[in-house]
Amino acid sequence: MDDLKKNTPQTKTPVPCYEGWAMKAGNSAGRCCCNCTYQRYIVQHPWNKKEWAKGPITQAFGYGCQPPEMRSVVFYEFQHSMCEMHEWKEIT
Ligand SMILES: [Zn+2]
Repeated sequence: MDDLKKNTPQTKTPVPCYEGWAMKAGNSAGRCCCNCTYQRYIVQHPWNKKEWAKGPITQAFGYGCQPPEMRSVVFYEFQHSMCEMHEWKEIT
């Protein structure tokens, strides 16, 4: 019973979000890329040639997603979106 309680989205989700996938479209628990454990910032690098990618590594310009099943990283322009591999981010 305790395990079941720990694994419910309500106790593991920092902030339910409906911006990437609306509740009326079936997102009953508020799953979104912004509360997924696989979301990362994509940051600039000073040696890049493109203006939007050139800069300090402290400057983020997008979001990346890399679930363990994939060898590639998916680039997202926005923090909020959705996919089938969503895993709740752990509350720290
Ligand atoms: Zn979101």
